[in-house]
Amino acid sequence: MSKKLLSNLKSEGVFISPGFRYSFLTLSIGISNYPEDAQTPEDLLRHADSAMLAVKRSGKHGFKRYNSTDDAATEYQQMLAHELAGAIERQEISLVFQPIYDLRTAKIVKVESLLRWTHPTLGRISPTDFIPVAEHSGLILSLGHWVIEQACLSASAWKDIQVCVNLSALQLLQHSFMEDLNREIQKNGLSPTHLALEITETMLMRDDPHTRYILDELNSLGIDLIIDDFGIGYSNFNRLRTLPVQSLKIDQSFTFNIVGQSVEHLYVQQIVRSTVNLSQIADLQVTAEGIETAEQLDMVQSLGCHYGQGYLFSRPCSAEQIDVLLAQSELPAWFRPATPAVPPT
Ligand code: C2E
Ligand code: MG
Ligand code: MG
Repeated sequence: MSKKLLSNLKSEGVFISPGFRYSFLTLSIGISNYPEDAQTPEDLLRHADSAMLAVKRSGKHGFKRYNSTDDAATEYQQMLAHELAGAIERQEISLVFQPIYDLRTAKIVKVESLLRWTHPTLGRISPTDFIPVAEHSGLILSLGHWVIEQACLSASAWKDIQVCVNLSALQLLQHSFMEDLNREIQKNGLSPTHLALEITETMLMRDDPHTRYILDELNSLGIDLIIDDFGIGYSNFNRLRTLPVQSLKIDQSFTFNIVGQSVEHLYVQQIVRSTVNLSQIADLQVTAEGIETAEQLDMVQSLGCHYGQGYLFSRPCSAEQIDVLLAQSELPAWFRPATPAVPPT
């Protein structure tokens, strides 16, 4: 379909921006018209690129005609890409970890590794701002490799918990991915079961033979696969059944809206309940992400979620702070034994 759409667009005389390099993933097209949008080939290209980046910022997979307001955001992204290029070497990048608790035992069972970038003049830049830039520029490959190195190093000190690493689609498509991952696992004397990879629905649902091959390889190695931000992407339940996935992480937007009696709240509760029911059939573990209040915890617990992650338990923190949390023997203040599951309405 993408090829057909592309050739149609080309035959229509539409300029396909150079940024259109991830055509196998999604199709994001920026359009600039001569002479309305620019008068020189360079400006036409630059404006088409700005429009294409605006499509990516608004969720990818679409097309957009250039508008002058696209420029400021694009310039910021290009500046970030420029600064990000040497950020690892300048030691501006670090990794923090956020604990994930078993809600039945109040024990930490996993930690999620999360990238942090502190720029000397711009200050802290959110991963939601720089990860898309890294993906667009290809820098995600070196950044992702560094994350795996650091996460494996930390995992070697935490024998009883799993370290979950966020992956970008591009990493799975990199030919050396399995080899690099295996090397880090062996170098740190890890069991693959101590690692889990968080992948978004969009990445998993694509019927791409190479991705499928890598997922099966990871599965046969014993590395858990987690679908991150579950429920907001392409939830093709039939395909989910066939994927080698062990865990679902319900998107935090559901947790934020789960407490209450309005139609919207009841709707969210029903989605989470259905996900938990589905997970029981497929033997999947369900994590509720973004738990900030005791009421949200009560609700996700009563709906049957197995694991919980969020500011109520702990913000993302250093490896040393995780050591302190792991050493605590008393039950945390937030813990309450689960109440029976809320019956279906
Ligand atoms: P994510 O993988 O869904 O990670 C969860 C995000 O929710 C993190 O944001 C975490 O700090 C935040 N969070 C956790 N608990 C709460 C809570 O109770 N309330 C609220 N409001 N937020 C909570 P963060 O660290 O800003 O990361 C954002 C996103 O950036 C991640 O979302 C992930 O998609 C991406 N990311 C972060 N590190 C990496 C990485 O190493 N590789 C890749 N590819 N992506 C990464
Ligand atoms: Mg994640
Ligand atoms: Mg998430």
